[in-house]
Amino acid sequence: QIGSQAVDRRVDSVCPFCGVGCLITYQIREEKIVSVQGRDGPANHGRLCVKGRFGFDYAHHPERLTRPLIRKPGVPKDWQGQTRPAHWRELFREASWDEALDLAAGQLAALRERHGPKALAGFGSAKGSNEEAYLFQKLVRTGFGSNNVDHCTRLCHASSVAALLEGVGSGAVSNPVHDVEHAELIFVIGANPTANHPVAATWMKNAARRGSKIVLADPRVTDIGRHAWRTLQFRADTDVAMLNALIHTVIEEDLVDMAFVRARVDNFDALKANAAGYSPEAVAPVCGIPAQTLREVARAFARARSAMILWGMGVSQHVHGTDNARCLIALCAITGQIGKPGSGLHPLRGQNNVQGASDAGLIPMMFPNYQRVDDPEARAWFENFWGLHPAPAGGGRPGALDATPGYTVVEIMHKALAPESDPHKVRGMYIMGENPAMSDPDLNHARHALASLEHLVVQDIFLTETAWLADVVLPASAWPEKTGTASNTDRMVQLGRRALNAPGDARPDLWIIQQIAQRMGLDWRYEGEESGVAAVYEEMRQAMHASIGGISWERLVRASSVTYPCHSADDPGQPIVFTERFPTPTGRLKLVPAQTIPAAEQPDAEYPLVLITGRQLEHWHTGSMTRRSSVLDAIEPMATASVHGDELRCRGLQPGALVRIRSRRGGVQLRLRRDDGTPHGTVFMPFAYGEAAANLLTHAALDPFGKIPEFKYCAVAIEQLDAA
Ligand code: SF4
Repeated sequence: QIGSQAVDRRVDSVCPFCGVGCLITYQIREEKIVSVQGRDGPANHGRLCVKGRFGFDYAHHPERLTRPLIRKPGVPKDWQGQTRPAHWRELFREASWDEALDLAAGQLAALRERHGPKALAGFGSAKGSNEEAYLFQKLVRTGFGSNNVDHCTRLCHASSVAALLEGVGSGAVSNPVHDVEHAELIFVIGANPTANHPVAATWMKNAARRGSKIVLADPRVTDIGRHAWRTLQFRADTDVAMLNALIHTVIEEDLVDMAFVRARVDNFDALKANAAGYSPEAVAPVCGIPAQTLREVARAFARARSAMILWGMGVSQHVHGTDNARCLIALCAITGQIGKPGSGLHPLRGQNNVQGASDAGLIPMMFPNYQRVDDPEARAWFENFWGLHPAPAGGGRPGALDATPGYTVVEIMHKALAPESDPHKVRGMYIMGENPAMSDPDLNHARHALASLEHLVVQDIFLTETAWLADVVLPASAWPEKTGTASNTDRMVQLGRRALNAPGDARPDLWIIQQIAQRMGLDWRYEGEESGVAAVYEEMRQAMHASIGGISWERLVRASSVTYPCHSADDPGQPIVFTERFPTPTGRLKLVPAQTIPAAEQPDAEYPLVLITGRQLEHWHTGSMTRRSSVLDAIEPMATASVHGDELRCRGLQPGALVRIRSRRGGVQLRLRRDDGTPHGTVFMPFAYGEAAANLLTHAALDPFGKIPEFKYCAVAIEQLDAA
């Protein structure tokens, strides 16, 4: 019952926002969701945060796309100073599905024939299901003919995954978040779990209440700091130095778990030689943390019976993001804090299905289950599995898989602006559920790139900033309107059921991908509403047998949530991995020493402040869903920039003042908010607000390994426009 009124039905699903993966039940009355309840899922035990509980009415928003749209002839793709059109009719006309799909696929196929497979690229989405991610990457690989496929993992934890694959042989977490309850010490770095993984934060707070020590290491002191035993508010960009100082202390003070290192770890001598140059006394003036505090934290971590590291994008979104993660792996390895309850490595995954989309191969260098595209054996297996031989006579789909890794998100934007003479110039794109015109760094560059494409197809539920630049817009289904699986940060594959019909003529994403595929020469038939999803899942399960082989569709229908690795029907799944060996070629963990590398852009006289971007509790990523959720929008209706009170005072600014924040790449106007957790010399901005898009300011410099942009550090200036 909702108040005194009965609901018509209840449908079980998964929260569509963050990687915690809370299980939910939609309560439906008169074909509308009227409330959401938490279910007793393994990740949430009935709990929900404000997004999960109140972020649902976006699905009923009047701005939902309900008909396919085709750009009107002669309407320019106005990317400079991009502003929201008053109505979609300014840019587009309505079309039938056949007309829109013929144009969408026909132009992509024509570009492929004229310029070759590398002229095309696709962005899938971590907001979609595993089945959609799997089918989308299969379309790009077997229909477009290249590996130019990526998604927002590139903007999120790509560097963490690069370090984890290199070091421990698996990009996923070693222990579920809930395992913090068994951790004597919980080391949270570069993460704001109370805002971004709120239910996960409740397990940390519970653990602290029962006596666990939380260490928060972050340039910003966020809410979880209230529960911390020690807070390391280090200077932004000095992570590698600070972490090496902890490693140095562990080695110098003879706190290394040598039995574990001898049995399971390689390259210790190289790590030791590297760490020798990072004594806490030498690093303290660099990172701003007293040497004694660094030593105290290192000792506590090493001596704890169990210690777990959880990290977020404050670690990964740097040009040294991979190095940051290498240091975290090393700290766990040399102290033996991995492979047992309450001890291990947990990169807190952002989107609800970023783990699953990456597992399913929605990345340019790997097929499903992280099999490298440049491995001839893996390629031969997938060519056979996907039935690519022989190639059809007279063109259409390619007969072999591309052997070279594709371009990543930011690289694809560069390639869209490459000169005509570049044989790998990207000319056409298919974007499903991503909003790079808001989420990419240096948005003027990204929007210019999107506008320069000869053909852009966007599939989404709203006319996003990216869709404004499209040639064809395909109206898709929101999460409550489809059945599918998503894999959370804990490696749990979880099933969401369709609760509603899509509005108007909007269609399931899986159907749309297939329609594009069929028009590009692929004979795909995954038919039936639920049977089609199940067929895709079962095909994906075969391709990912080593991880989800024991999780059949029927099992998911019965259980809702199963953890992988799961090898057989009676395997309960393994929440804690690396207990005996690491999935590396040698079975041992490989330490990789890291040296400090400065951020790509430093503050100077003209741009004296550091900008850190991120999320806030009420809004999700580029805001397309949460800003159309009435309760969430009412709580946080407008963009603000957070600045320390002393910084405001020294600049003669007041909270609430309208300011312009500018970098070398652009400027935005918004109001100031006082936040004394934000350090001096720094501004924090969420990136959810199109009218003050933080990514107009950010820098597109990339981590060389994970190819992730440096969202967490660039130089900006503030000018006051009016008083508060
Ligand atoms: Fe949804 Fe994450 Fe909140 Fe859970 S913690 S309700 S998954 S946003």
